[in-house]
Amino acid sequence: MTEKREFRAIRGTRDILPADSALWHWFEQIARETLESYNFREIRLPIFEDTQLFARSIGVDTDVVSKEMYTFEDREQFHVAHPLSLVDVIRLDEAVAEAWQRGTIPRTAANEAEVLTLHEACRDIERAGTPAVLRFLDSVRNLALGDSLTLRPEATASVARAYIEHGMQTLPGNQKLYYVGPMFRRERPQRGRYRQFYQVGAEVLGASDAPAIDAEVLEMLLVLFKRAGLENTTLYINSIGCKECRPKYVELLREELRKVVDKLGPDSQRRIETNPLRVLDSKLPEEQAVIEKLPRISEHLCAACRQHFAELKDELHLRDISYDENWRLVRGLDYYTRTTFEVTATGLGSQNAVCGGGRYDGLVDLLGGPAGVKGIGFAIGTDRAILSIQEGGKLPHLPGLSVFIARMGAKAYPVAVNIAKKLRACGLAVELPPQEMKFGKALGLADKLGARYALIIGEDEVASGTYTLKRLADAEQKKLSEDELLEYLESERRGSGA
Ligand code: AMP
Repeated sequence: MTEKREFRAIRGTRDILPADSALWHWFEQIARETLESYNFREIRLPIFEDTQLFARSIGVDTDVVSKEMYTFEDREQFHVAHPLSLVDVIRLDEAVAEAWQRGTIPRTAANEAEVLTLHEACRDIERAGTPAVLRFLDSVRNLALGDSLTLRPEATASVARAYIEHGMQTLPGNQKLYYVGPMFRRERPQRGRYRQFYQVGAEVLGASDAPAIDAEVLEMLLVLFKRAGLENTTLYINSIGCKECRPKYVELLREELRKVVDKLGPDSQRRIETNPLRVLDSKLPEEQAVIEKLPRISEHLCAACRQHFAELKDELHLRDISYDENWRLVRGLDYYTRTTFEVTATGLGSQNAVCGGGRYDGLVDLLGGPAGVKGIGFAIGTDRAILSIQEGGKLPHLPGLSVFIARMGAKAYPVAVNIAKKLRACGLAVELPPQEMKFGKALGLADKLGARYALIIGEDEVASGTYTLKRLADAEQKKLSEDELLEYLESERRGSGA
């Protein structure tokens, strides 16, 4: 007998239950409407991509690529029979030989060696017993039939890949794209940090890197947060230079860090060599005094980057956007250039960033796309935005169940089925219980389900062709004809959003 087993969601993943999903839906709807009002349009992307797409764009020295990606080999294994007979082995050997000839098995040196081993093992099996069978099976399993794939840890790389793949540089104007969906990172789970989390992101790709683009993106972001009722957000901005000035600054930073290596923890010590900018991200209290004395990028920007940053700040003033400059805001991913930004919100504890983004002018080029394409974008962490809205306590009024139908008597049933269909067609949420209930019980359930109205259909109503509509908040009752009922609930719905 199979053992009884209870399954639970994997650590770092969670179910968003209906009590919360209405708020998620509402937030994502506000995001879509806001982004579309700025002429951004949705791109729907795959959940997994070639591992190298992320390794190249995000950078192999980042935490995301070096330890947090969910990577797997996409292999369709050969079918292996259990137990294996000699005939099966010979068949499998022939199938592998044929797949190799046809090129179904990728022609790598490793696969070629494996195919040969496999064939020899098959010969051995014809002569010997179990050990040869096991060697044969190992060999079949070692064939790397598929590519290395990764569940997306973020979507900017995918947007850039899609931009290149579909030749979007030939389309008129800048490409303004947005996406909504889950991302995956093997991080240490805690409040506001999950292994499957959700983002709403937007990207602008095109020939121009005008600071007006950066400013419009920031304006849009803050408008979105305001509409969603996210209170007390702070926008932090920085410029991390371009490929002309950043490497020189990074080298200077590395030299200065080497001088204070003894005062740093092991993570920062390692980063001096691998990714010195990341030291600036450190939250360790004992490193703060040391970091404050390090050279700042703002003093080492080239003239063009300095001007770009100054113009961005002018644009922000023009749009009445307040911000704090944070010279330590370098962001974790390698592809950023010039403008970087982050928005924090209250009520989130240590994981208080609800959005991060920046400019990535070299990314399309790096991924083999056309030269000179510039880009900027952001990703909002939906899980955290929702937490912050819930903490702020200003929850929107979300439409729930409008009408619960309480019926009694066999003749009431067809009437109930019919009117339920008509009310639903008007856009109302209607619950028609599958079994008849006593009126008292039905009204009790309607109340527990949070219905605004109970629609009562009993013998009297059937006989007179009317409906009794009871508002549950104050128990006010009305007798209405079908037309009156539909008209009344329609106008209620328009008025209340329910
Ligand atoms: P990033 O892609 O790292 O720039 O992150 C952008 C935003 O996504 C952050 O500001 C967070 O709000 C959110 N985010 C990133 N990682 C996680 C995670 N593991 N769990 C929840 N939200 C996350």
